[in-house]
Amino acid sequence: MELCTIIIPCYNEQEMIPIFYEEMTSVINIMQNLDFQFLFIDDGSQDKTLIKIKELKKKDIRVHYISFSRNFGKEAALLAGLERAIGDYIVTIDADLQDPPSLLPQMYQEIKEGYDCVAAYRKNRKGEPLLRSVFSKLFYKIINKISKTNIVDNARDYRFMTRKMVDAVISVHEYNRFSKGIFSWVGFQTKWISFENIKRVEGKTKWSFWKLFLYSIEGIVAFSTVPLALVSFLGILFCFLSLLGMIFIFIRAVIWGDSVAGWPSMICVITMLGGIQLLCLGIIGYYLSKTYSEVKHRPLYVEKESG
Ligand code: UDP
Ligand code: MG
Repeated sequence: MELCTIIIPCYNEQEMIPIFYEEMTSVINIMQNLDFQFLFIDDGSQDKTLIKIKELKKKDIRVHYISFSRNFGKEAALLAGLERAIGDYIVTIDADLQDPPSLLPQMYQEIKEGYDCVAAYRKNRKGEPLLRSVFSKLFYKIINKISKTNIVDNARDYRFMTRKMVDAVISVHEYNRFSKGIFSWVGFQTKWISFENIKRVEGKTKWSFWKLFLYSIEGIVAFSTVPLALVSFLGILFCFLSLLGMIFIFIRAVIWGDSVAGWPSMICVITMLGGIQLLCLGIIGYYLSKTYSEVKHRPLYVEKESG
């Protein structure tokens, strides 16, 4: 029988582990035509997450885990899981039951029909802070305008994938990982299915607004160089404008003679240009810093133990 590995990144999910396990087993018990295996990734949790996973492992031989030496972030946890999973099929799913396990049979059905990947997205963001939804909409609009890789709005990291697709994903050795982009970049046929937004069952979200903001910048820098082109364009535009200004001042001086008036406006122009230059330097610097962390070739995670 074919094997399916379920990868669950967990960071401080002590309440969710047993609930998730119960819910998941009730679904996979119905799916008789696949063998399943759990692969929990403990992303350096400070609570009893690892203990809970080990308790499950004692009860169920299908449970496996990797534990990190500290918190490396969900992207690293996902990668570790994908690298270790031995299944013919691989599922990635959150521990908080915001991704309903009940979709699995439908996802498997679609895979059987020939898709390489079935991915889920939320129809809406009910129950989420308004500001967060507005910014996230804006982010998807911007990134899809300026990047060749299509990134689906409201996509979750809930996927059912074939071995072939997963091999392609782990062959992308990026340090700054934005997996929503990587999954799309590798290509293959993806079927999108939608579901209603579900609130977290227990525990709380690990994503603050600031963390999400930084993550979205990461996505843009990883999948687009348009900001750099924009910066160059700004440079050319301002050169052109200043040239026009120079010609104007020269002609004015020749015809009406020079005047010393106008220094406040001059200060305004200087500070604005200074500001734009700093902003451009900042953008270039950001790309440079990402290149720097890329060339260091550090491992994305450090494993403390596994089983
Ligand atoms: N997670 C992780 N490492 C982190 C943050 C989160 O492994 O540094 C896991 C977390 O345990 C959960 C999943 O990633 O299983 C999604 O996290 P969360 O529910 O906080 O995100 P949200 O649903 O709010 O986007
Ligand atoms: Mg969640």
